[in-house]
Amino acid sequence: MDRSPVVVIALFLVCCATFMLAQTPAQAPQLSTRDAASQQASAAAATFDQVIDRTIEREHFFMAQMKQLHPLVETYLQNLKEDKELNAPVPVSDVYFLGRLDLSSGETDDRTFSSPTTSGLGKRMLSKLKNVYSMRFMPLGFAQMVILDQDFQRKYYDFTFVRREFLGEIKCIVIDVAPKKDAGNGRFLGRIWIEDQDYNIVRFNGTYYPHPRSSYYLHFDSWRQNLRPGGVWLPSLIYSEESDLKYKLGQTLNYKAQTRLWGYNLKDFRRNSEFTEITVDAPQAVQDESKKAQDASPIEAQRAWERQAEINVIDRLQQIGLLAPEGEIDKVLQTVVNNVMVTNNLDIQPEIHCRVLLTTPLESFTIGHTIVVSRGMIDVLPDEASLAMILTHELAHIALGHRLNTKMAFNDRMFFPDERTFERMDFARDRGEEEAADKKAIELLNNSPYKDKLSNAGLFLKAVQARAPQLKNLIRAHLGDSLLNGDATRMSSLMTASPQFDPKKADQIAALPLGGRVKVDPWTEQLELIKTKPVAITAAADKMPFEVTPFFPFLTRFGSASASPNKAAPAATPTPEKTATASPSGQ
Ligand SMILES: [Zn+2]
Repeated sequence: MDRSPVVVIALFLVCCATFMLAQTPAQAPQLSTRDAASQQASAAAATFDQVIDRTIEREHFFMAQMKQLHPLVETYLQNLKEDKELNAPVPVSDVYFLGRLDLSSGETDDRTFSSPTTSGLGKRMLSKLKNVYSMRFMPLGFAQMVILDQDFQRKYYDFTFVRREFLGEIKCIVIDVAPKKDAGNGRFLGRIWIEDQDYNIVRFNGTYYPHPRSSYYLHFDSWRQNLRPGGVWLPSLIYSEESDLKYKLGQTLNYKAQTRLWGYNLKDFRRNSEFTEITVDAPQAVQDESKKAQDASPIEAQRAWERQAEINVIDRLQQIGLLAPEGEIDKVLQTVVNNVMVTNNLDIQPEIHCRVLLTTPLESFTIGHTIVVSRGMIDVLPDEASLAMILTHELAHIALGHRLNTKMAFNDRMFFPDERTFERMDFARDRGEEEAADKKAIELLNNSPYKDKLSNAGLFLKAVQARAPQLKNLIRAHLGDSLLNGDATRMSSLMTASPQFDPKKADQIAALPLGGRVKVDPWTEQLELIKTKPVAITAAADKMPFEVTPFFPFLTRFGSASASPNKAAPAATPTPEKTATASPSGQ
């Protein structure tokens, strides 16, 4: 089954190449007026035809806009196999891509085809993430799914009104779209949701059609969000799945994948990086140090040096869109860290901060006195005690004085291209430090408010261990410490006191599905905790630990009361005297 991901990529290459080359034969525009009479007129567009015209116009505007934008694109894919006992598909292998979208070269970009051979590309994607694949390839494959049609024209399609429907608080006109005969390969076939103010497509669900001989298009559900004023809706989430796509004799494609886009508002990375990676400090960032009369003592100098390295690395990670800006979730994490510190009488200077890495793979690490946890990790942790376990391990590194490699304190070390971040930055620690941190962390946890709740944390680790062989790309760390240390699991002594991991048991929640807790604003990268009602789990198949699930974002308009990120997020007020509760989802 290890070969499946390669196959998936191969399919994309074939599909998309043909998509790009799709012929668009000239034909007399034949307007579909079907159902037009039955349409409820909206305020601005009086007829169904007008709705279609406005939508097509907006879509062309959208395409022009996307060519200027270079968000990060992350795709995480799980290949599935039916589990007879569970009576549901379960992941058997996974694939991870991270890169930057570039649609600027348009549909006739030859570079997209002059790339390495299919197998080479597949191999590259499967290999270590330091080979962050060049975004030249991103118009292909999953990133392609941000586009409905490179050249959306009325003459290529039949439109059928379905109904009006709310997506979140957005009133939408729902329309079925089917390519006309001879409109060329790779047109969109499916359903679109159009918001009724500016007539932007906010969601489209379907596939490209018709597919050329011996290649296939995949199914997807592509969502856009209103991230800016002026009716700007940008791609943010794409879910894709196939359960029985027969692509070769006896071969069936069975997978599900989540694609996330963010970092639309990052500084013009492309233009800068072509010349140099040197950035010049803004004048306000330069502090006047002349009033400080004292020289630093050797120990102060050492600390200042380490602090410089820490700031350099954090700035860099945030600049390229990998680290979320400071926000509410940091405070939730900090509360948990404080709970452990207070009960252990730990007084660490400078103060410890927590930050969130925006990516999916489960990892955590420390940069000086900053603890970094990935979004995917926060998503899958079942409860606060498990979160405390992850954070306390990192706290232990800090408490033990494990140092950041201070070569990062030299500013020139930061001048490397963004795509090389993963090879230039490595926060993983050696085995000796890991074991010492594990030991110290257990000691700290046993003297913390979480001491009686650690069996579930141990259960989480058992789940990690059980799923690690199938979910190598999710569980492997890319920048920091993995939950697995060779064959050993981090903090394995917690596992002995925990119950047996039983994926078939409906009431045992060892780990949550991906995407269940943290919401990312793709423009600002601000994070917010997702507000969901608890759902009763009645069947073991509903648990889906570490699994990819479809997206169903609550759509809002920019600036509406329910749209302001972080405003509604539960604030966890750090209360140093007493231990505070910081459960991310009220569990
Ligand atoms: Zn560690």
